[in-house]
Amino acid sequence: MELKYEQYQFSPILGWSISRYETFDKCKRQYFYSYYSKYVPDIPGYKISKLKELTSVPLETGNVVHDVLEAFLRRLQKSDTDIDEKRFFEYSRKLAQRYFSEKTFIEQYYDNKTVEIEAAYEKIETCLRNFIQSPCYNWIFMAAIRERKNWMIEPPGFGETRLNGMKAYCKMDFLLPVDGDIHILDWKTGHRDEVKHKSQLMGYAAATNSNFGIEWNRICPKIVYLYPEFGELEIQFDSDQLQQFFNTIKDQTESMYSFCSNVEENRPLPIEKFEKNPSPSLCRQCRFQELCFPQRENRMEHGNMDFDYGSARQELIF
Ligand code: SF4
Repeated sequence: MELKYEQYQFSPILGWSISRYETFDKCKRQYFYSYYSKYVPDIPGYKISKLKELTSVPLETGNVVHDVLEAFLRRLQKSDTDIDEKRFFEYSRKLAQRYFSEKTFIEQYYDNKTVEIEAAYEKIETCLRNFIQSPCYNWIFMAAIRERKNWMIEPPGFGETRLNGMKAYCKMDFLLPVDGDIHILDWKTGHRDEVKHKSQLMGYAAATNSNFGIEWNRICPKIVYLYPEFGELEIQFDSDQLQQFFNTIKDQTESMYSFCSNVEENRPLPIEKFEKNPSPSLCRQCRFQELCFPQRENRMEHGNMDFDYGSARQELIF
């Protein structure tokens, strides 16, 4: 079975994605900075781009694991011999070193903290070890490999699709046909969030049905948890749940449309309409802290200082 993505003509209208709506829901101002950066007034474009490129230790850890698994699957497409574990882990360490040395981390930039690459690498190694000792790894070697020529590994692009006619983005890690079914695997190195992940799986299933015309009962999406131990999450879906999912996507998309001055062109309302929602847990992980709180401007240059987001919230409210 050959899988081929449908190509859509460019349209400026916004498209739903789980991460877009999540950002919108958490903090409207962060949403504006993330998705409408060219409309940010009084801040040079290069500065916004620099902030958008900041990463975090959990994000980069996930990136390394994803890229090692991608390389592993591509290698498996060419040769089904067992992997050389020593070389496998050496490769992952080199990749981690490269990624961690090339990027600027939120923790460094705002809190002048040293990024502990060894601690991050320990987690990367645990994720990869959990994978190669898992039933999923055996299944890929035993059953899935038969149709390896038709695997779709980290397909390029943003995963544009249509969900019940609405524009959406569902980027999948790995799609593979096995005996007439389509399996979709999504690697996770962070914590288990079943509500969010079930919705993500529903999106994958709907995108697979829409993009490749595969029957619902032949689609098997699965989250593969790699840390702290191996685990899997699968969903059973029926027509009621699907309808509910499509209704949710529609409601969420319309909420995001309501912050556009021109929906078709995806032009946002003025930045003032996108309220800040400061909280210690959210702001500490946010790339745009210095735009909301000038006192937070690049601690790498100005030294370390404690900052109380709680008081900042009071200042904003009162
Ligand atoms: S720093 Fe806080 S309030 Fe400002 S955009 Fe980020 S999350 Fe929102």
